[in-house]
Amino acid sequence: MEALIKVENLKKYFEIKKSMLSKPLQVKAINGISLEIPKGVIFAVVGESGSGKSTLGRVILKLIDPTSGKVFFDGQDITSLKSKDMIKYRKQMQIVQQDPYNSLHPRKLIKDIVGEGLKIHYKLSAEEIYLRIKEILECVGLREEHMFRYPHEFSGGQRQRIAIARALVLRPKFLVLDEPTSALDVSVQARTLALLCELKENFDLTYLFITHNLAVVDYMASHVAVMYLGKIMEIGSKDDIFFRPKHPYTVSLLEAIPSVGKGKRVRMIPRGEIPSPVNLPKGCLFHTRCVQAKDICAKKDPQEVEISPGHMCRCHLYS
Ligand code: SF4
Repeated sequence: MEALIKVENLKKYFEIKKSMLSKPLQVKAINGISLEIPKGVIFAVVGESGSGKSTLGRVILKLIDPTSGKVFFDGQDITSLKSKDMIKYRKQMQIVQQDPYNSLHPRKLIKDIVGEGLKIHYKLSAEEIYLRIKEILECVGLREEHMFRYPHEFSGGQRQRIAIARALVLRPKFLVLDEPTSALDVSVQARTLALLCELKENFDLTYLFITHNLAVVDYMASHVAVMYLGKIMEIGSKDDIFFRPKHPYTVSLLEAIPSVGKGKRVRMIPRGEIPSPVNLPKGCLFHTRCVQAKDICAKKDPQEVEISPGHMCRCHLYS
């Protein structure tokens, strides 16, 4: 399948200072990621909080610049494009964020929130803008009268629909969905996920779906990358990851949700907490928690190994 997004050896390091006098510390949020997102798929990135998933989404969208590496959108290298040259791509790549309470301006009417991007990116009359906003609100299950209300007049699920409408009104090809349902009640989550699936088909979209919830991945995704401390530990089709998982970290995540996946597995719940990205473990990043760690694991970083076409794993057990 043709790739809409291609990422080559992407790195994003941040510098933080604990105090005015202290030396800056380096946070390796993304540490050498390469992947391809085929057109028309739902590509999930899963991992614990602190694994670098959200930073990856933002670097792909060029909301933040990478430290090194390249991002291609539909064959075009967008890594070093200047702001004016990025305008053409901005409307094709949108994001829906986790928190529908903070992502909508509280003092703006819904018509102004949803229509803002239209005014920036298209030369349309006021009537055309009005009709586009009305049409997109209807696509997400809202009504024309909702255009003249403020965000606080809506429930969490409705606010997330407004955020989705704001992203879709620009007719993008690619959406980054950053934990789009984790702030919602369970019943509302299910309806929002169903809506996102329906919109993907109707608008011919490709999704990068960022989540820590493998049950959601099971429902939504066709491709999955498992991220840990800024690196991809395993990547493959949903069936590879759910039914033929190889990496001990992937297996440990699946262990936490016994209702998904059918493979017979040994119990491999990881020990302790995810280490700080300021002070990364030497060797395999997962060795401090891995129940299958061997001597080599603390010394040598494993290389990516192809298990089967499209199914890659970074672990000494398969080198
Ligand atoms: Fe565990 Fe070693 Fe594999 Fe890392 S390389 S996941 S420590 S077995």
